[in-house]
Amino acid sequence: MSSALLIKDVRIFDGENEIPSGSVLVEDGLIKEVSKGALEAPNASTVVISKPGHTLIPGIIDGHIHAHIDEENTVLGQALKFGVTTVCDMHQEVENLAELRNRALNDPNSADFKTASQGATVLGGWPAAVITAHDKSEETLAKVAAWPDLKNRADVEAFIRDRIEDKADYIKLMHEDGNGLSVKPTLPSLELQKDVIEIAHRNGLLAVAHATSLQGTLDVLRLGIDGLTHTFCDQPPTQEVIDAYLASNAHCNPTLVALGSLTTEGQQEQESYAHDPRASKFLNSQGKQNLCRCMALANDKSRVKYAYQSVRELKAAGIDVILGSDSAGPALGTAFGLSAHHELATLVSKCGFTPEEALRAGTSLVAKRLRLKDRGRIVEGLRADLVLVEGNPLEDIDHTLDLRGVWKQGMLCSAYDSLVA
Ligand SMILES: [Zn+2]
Repeated sequence: MSSALLIKDVRIFDGENEIPSGSVLVEDGLIKEVSKGALEAPNASTVVISKPGHTLIPGIIDGHIHAHIDEENTVLGQALKFGVTTVCDMHQEVENLAELRNRALNDPNSADFKTASQGATVLGGWPAAVITAHDKSEETLAKVAAWPDLKNRADVEAFIRDRIEDKADYIKLMHEDGNGLSVKPTLPSLELQKDVIEIAHRNGLLAVAHATSLQGTLDVLRLGIDGLTHTFCDQPPTQEVIDAYLASNAHCNPTLVALGSLTTEGQQEQESYAHDPRASKFLNSQGKQNLCRCMALANDKSRVKYAYQSVRELKAAGIDVILGSDSAGPALGTAFGLSAHHELATLVSKCGFTPEEALRAGTSLVAKRLRLKDRGRIVEGLRADLVLVEGNPLEDIDHTLDLRGVWKQGMLCSAYDSLVA
């Protein structure tokens, strides 16, 4: 049994509400007790951390990434350093799952990993277009060629059986019509997408969809999707799309930072994050370079302000908006972990969120919508995935980057060893 951990004299944002000064006791990787006052250490071996002027928040959950495996651990390792204790992968090579899960489970310096496994792809469809735009290596082309090419309901039944076999955490659909892009991928039929959603639901699985156009979003909302993994940027929102969200109760995971990279309008902000000393210390030179470049796959009618406007209106209508960065290894304009902070700040600066609402989107709400029942809040019995920041991010969301400690299941990420030294 590892020794207990007591964090006291801190402001706590528990995922839903603020405790102005409280204590959290952790035992065996779980939150044992949360108090609005002081707690006593249960025994002499308890590690006690007293941090007035600091705020403890739940580990951030990035609801949209695409992992890869590298020696430097720039995916799960980098995410954790940035306080992202869980990443939710939204399309992955099946052959990578065992290693990614092994790191998530056994390496205290890797974030936890959830995944859709392989997305529901068709030949010539999304995301082959974006992947081969950046990487035309033989190896990548061969991988893309081996993805499912779903044609009918029987294919979908087999596809979902395979995902259950992979222990996928949810099902990912690809519904990219190219309306806002400079590429025109093959769009799966509505009948096929309906089958994917229906069969996922029949098997108790959540189904979420990629769409970046207003029409694509309407299509999947009307088919009964549980959530979108982007908002759209090809045109301003309409009452029709807000109503479709309301009718389906789907959530929106807007990925505003990634859309800014898609249209290239986000470049300046990406650069300022890349050069922020609080961030750059955790990025390697390739990571910094990628962050300073843009995907640039949008056509000339797409604007990131339409995406901001859509999120403002969805939030005002009461739709659940959750945090996701769409960070991906080969993609440009994002960085694992860091882009989650950029996204939180963007929800506040562009979409009318209070800092508290943004933090909810990145903790309790994303956990609820992606059915991660054991995390996302600082309450008794949940995983002790915790982030300590200096200052008050409920007043200024930028303080989420003033990281002073990150724990996954009660284990301190080694980047923060000096906290207890
Ligand atoms: Zn994605």
